Amino acid sequence: MRILITGGAGFVGSHLSERLLGQGHDVIAVDNYFTGSKRNIEDLLANPRFELMRHDVTFPLYVEVDAIYNLASPASPVHYQHDPVQTTKTNVVGAINLLGLAKRLRVPILQASTSEVYGDPEVHPQPEEYWGKVNPIGPRACYDEAKRVAETLFFDYHRQHNLDIRVARIFNTYGPRMAADDGRVVSNFIVQALRGEPLTIYGDGSQTRSFCYVDDLVSGLIALMENTSNDPGPINLGNPGEFTMLELASLVLEITGSSSPIEHRDLPADDPKQRQPNIDRAKKVLGWEPSVPLREGLGETIDYFRSQLG
Ligand code: NAD
Ligand code: UDP
Repeated sequence: MRILITGGAGFVGSHLSERLLGQGHDVIAVDNYFTGSKRNIEDLLANPRFELMRHDVTFPLYVEVDAIYNLASPASPVHYQHDPVQTTKTNVVGAINLLGLAKRLRVPILQASTSEVYGDPEVHPQPEEYWGKVNPIGPRACYDEAKRVAETLFFDYHRQHNLDIRVARIFNTYGPRMAADDGRVVSNFIVQALRGEPLTIYGDGSQTRSFCYVDDLVSGLIALMENTSNDPGPINLGNPGEFTMLELASLVLEITGSSSPIEHRDLPADDPKQRQPNIDRAKKVLGWEPSVPLREGLGETIDYFRSQLG
């Protein structure tokens, strides 16, 4: 198959491209390099079945493909809040453009949605039936609400145009090729530990997240795309192992052997207090569950950043 991946030069997109090429598919990666980089896919550029296009998904795209993964969007709070209007445009106008393409071609399209659609959740762990608690006018809204509208568009194209859609709600994912300056907690802590700088814990560090290794996520995304049961989702993809930021910091310090101190900073506005996926649906519908424990995945990620930071 010829597969289009928007956001293909990003962290997740580069791993997905690599895996699909390895399975014998042709891949067209589309990216405007806002947060992604050519370095992420430099090993793929020599492959004749890989094609890279500089393109902004807020503009229409005309290509001929057999399936679409829509991943284009900054994912870290620092980056998606840098130009919030562009974040909303990328997710909403981008979804309209890609859905239009999928409709013309009559091909399946997968949306990389997010656990942020649950906002600061009052239900824990979060099942797909939970509608979420999102502040529509806060600093995270450009991402959370745009991802929610994108889900609405996907389901309306499904109902109105009988489009074959698949919606994955991705929970915090980490691994090699996260950007060092990304601002997400895993990359921040590892880079800080390796540089001997203080680990910056926002708030008291009691807030929780559940971290999924990127290889596991990629398996889940492909399982969802290849699923033949015609289930549009949404389906949570994440690792239910739940950790406080204090626990994460001490694990990073232990594995790196760093003696960096911990420094507390102000908690950002609307920072969710807890987050853990209920993955019963993914297990039942896709036969998928993550297999890489945090300690092991952190080891791989730390090795990657060591090689990058020299
Ligand atoms: P990333 O920032 O590394 O990758 C996103 C890619 O999209 C980048 O290469 C960026 O340049 C590109 N992009 C941004 N705006 C674009 C535009 N207008 N046109 C074309 N390309 C554009 O982030 P990631 O972690 O790889 O996330 C990939 C997708 O998964 C995103 O949609 C994100 O919302 C979603 N997601 C990720 C996580 C996570 O923890 N990594 C969690 C939930 C959802
Ligand atoms: N966080 C932190 N220190 C950092 C970066 C993030 O304590 O240097 C916290 C942040 O406040 C949040 C959690 O770690 O509670 C996860 O943040 P991230 O930006 O990785 O993802 P998200 O908030 O989108 O889940």
